[in-house]
Amino acid sequence: MEHSERRARVKPHRWVAGLSAFSLFLFAIPTVLNAQPIVKHDLRVVLHPEDHRIEVEDAIMLPDTLVSASGGPVRFALRAGLLVTSRDPHWAITPLAPDPSQSLSGHPEPTREYTVTLPKGARTFALSYQGAIVDEVQEGKEGEGSAEETGRGLSSQGVFLSGSEWWYPQFGDQLVTFAMNVRAPGGWEVISQGERMFRRRDGALEEVRWNSPEPQDEIDLVGGSLTEYRRAVGKISTLVFLREPDQALADQYLDATAHYLDIYQKLLGSYPYKKFALVENFRETGFGMPSFTLLGSKVIRFPFILHSSYPHEILHNWWGNGVFVDVATGNWSEGLTAYLADHLVQEQNGTGAAYRRGALQRYADYVAAARDFPLVEFRSRHDPTTEAVGYSKALMVFHMVRRELGDEAFIGALRGFFERFRFRRATFTDLALAFAAAAGRTAGPLAPWVEKPGAPELKVEGVAAFKQAADRYLVTAVVEQTQPGAPYRLRVPVAVTLEGRDEAYQTTFRLDTKRLGVEIQVPGRPLRLDVDPEFDLFRRLDRNEIPPALSQMFGAEKVLAVLPAAAEESLREAYRQLADSWATSHDGPFDIQWDTDVEELPTDRAVWIMGWDNRFRTALAPALNGYRAAATDQGVTIGRTDLSRDRHSVVLTVRHPADPALALGWIATDRVAALPGLGRKLPHYGKYSYLGFEGDEPTNVAKGEWPLTGSPLSVLVRQTDGTTIDVPTAKLAPRPALVKPVPVTP
Ligand SMILES: [Zn+2]
Repeated sequence: MEHSERRARVKPHRWVAGLSAFSLFLFAIPTVLNAQPIVKHDLRVVLHPEDHRIEVEDAIMLPDTLVSASGGPVRFALRAGLLVTSRDPHWAITPLAPDPSQSLSGHPEPTREYTVTLPKGARTFALSYQGAIVDEVQEGKEGEGSAEETGRGLSSQGVFLSGSEWWYPQFGDQLVTFAMNVRAPGGWEVISQGERMFRRRDGALEEVRWNSPEPQDEIDLVGGSLTEYRRAVGKISTLVFLREPDQALADQYLDATAHYLDIYQKLLGSYPYKKFALVENFRETGFGMPSFTLLGSKVIRFPFILHSSYPHEILHNWWGNGVFVDVATGNWSEGLTAYLADHLVQEQNGTGAAYRRGALQRYADYVAAARDFPLVEFRSRHDPTTEAVGYSKALMVFHMVRRELGDEAFIGALRGFFERFRFRRATFTDLALAFAAAAGRTAGPLAPWVEKPGAPELKVEGVAAFKQAADRYLVTAVVEQTQPGAPYRLRVPVAVTLEGRDEAYQTTFRLDTKRLGVEIQVPGRPLRLDVDPEFDLFRRLDRNEIPPALSQMFGAEKVLAVLPAAAEESLREAYRQLADSWATSHDGPFDIQWDTDVEELPTDRAVWIMGWDNRFRTALAPALNGYRAAATDQGVTIGRTDLSRDRHSVVLTVRHPADPALALGWIATDRVAALPGLGRKLPHYGKYSYLGFEGDEPTNVAKGEWPLTGSPLSVLVRQTDGTTIDVPTAKLAPRPALVKPVPVTP
């Protein structure tokens, strides 16, 4: 199965109360941690899973800034259902009546706010509270495991508490340090940030103490009945916690942990924590917390996760969980993590360009102009559009910065940024300044890309050759930025294919106007010009640079689904339900009609044609023909692949004959039972042009992308006699990955 959704994590969105006092300290020397206002907690927690109840004692030390700056009572918020059970007469703790306009959190419902008034000069107080925290369906909640149960709360299945459960008192957006004793049922393991100081059996209970002297965004507490595996990697303790004993699986993860810790430490600087743990969750989540990750049982058993999601989660300990995100000004950590984890793995496999094309395709298909937004407004991924901006666009922007600075300066800037902002919050601006310093400039190269929505669009024309000497030619071209608005500042890579040479002539030119005449001197007769052949620029791809794919159907603004009136009753009903389910999750108009009620296919929207017996099936024929494919009553032939109707469910997309920016999709099966599975699975196959499935599950047996023809950035050079010579693009120079690949097993 494809696994593109729960790739990783963003911490649940947390509230930010006004301007952070922390910003005053941006330019303090970063190693002086005392310079940050930090709330210290010493927690004693008892877990009672049978009735979902936690009992907590918290000894709190407030920073000077909080006590004196407020000049009076200090406010904090706690989960509304928790009952504050004991109060010391020295501290006046007063619950405030819920008042949304006065709320620190802006979310008065689940929280209750209090004030505490301390004796003059005092900075410490203690609080006892208890209550039930029940697993809630996190419908619509931000975060990568959104719109599904994440197993939050406390139950006999396990515990999962973080800042968004408000299970400990929170004082605005202060960072925290903490120590925490937890008592849990026998056989349970409980994991938090930082280092485990001890773990012991206390009667029928397990007791464990975690110590986190490193400033943190929030306090996480996870666990359940788990088996622990451990290995030391240098000074780092690496751990795996599984719900069922499985030494082989644990070993795979311990090996991968050592491998990626080694890569990232060499690249970015020392891992910031004393341990890293993989914790298996009974819900299918993909969360990364500082010094551990919480992944679902199914997820950790997909073999490809070891070298896709898993390194991504480990790398979050530098970006997001080592340097924290100041969410109010945009989340830079996902794009940077995707670039240095996911993209790096692809680059090491020699598939970096294809990966970048995929990222650009997601942006082109899911981010219509009306849905676009600037990176500074990205918080977390909750649908393909936010993913295409917050991950895909952002990673392309980091790729451009790297190309601009060169690998050494790029890595140097990141190392310096990490060193300076470790255990602090940072913004896109902080990153931009780090890059600018590395480039020896005052202005960062990031600003136009992160502060505004949109993307450049390129066009090339008038590509001609001029002979200068025996083996010296000029290629001339006019390159245009066709997007509305101001021009972007681009460094455009080009490859010129020369007569009689296997390797292309490659260079770059600066484009910072809307229209530019370019002359490139080449050492041979130029036959073909390819602009940005390896997808190094963040830009909106031309339709002809991307084969039609399912992402175009699921990303379309307007959709019509055409149902087959001639199909038998049970199939008609199953198609109708499939269309209904897609309509419900679609962001925009999604109409459903019987084919007998449709006179002709609309030309202003994507159209799903459903069923073998749909009367519009023939609309696909000319386009399929162009791809050497055909659909008949017996089945579908794609090149040498045959997908027979009696054994297969088939899905394919072609360009809309009326508008190449739109797609037609066809889904056909005779198996009623396969349709619900197709409805669930297809959104995960976005990059494919065609798919074949077998059985009711259904199981994918064929997939592919149509070959590309007619990219407008790939042009044959007009020769001096006015002709062109059709040749494929010559070989491009191999590119070293940012980090040289090393064998996975040490
Ligand atoms: Zn992530």
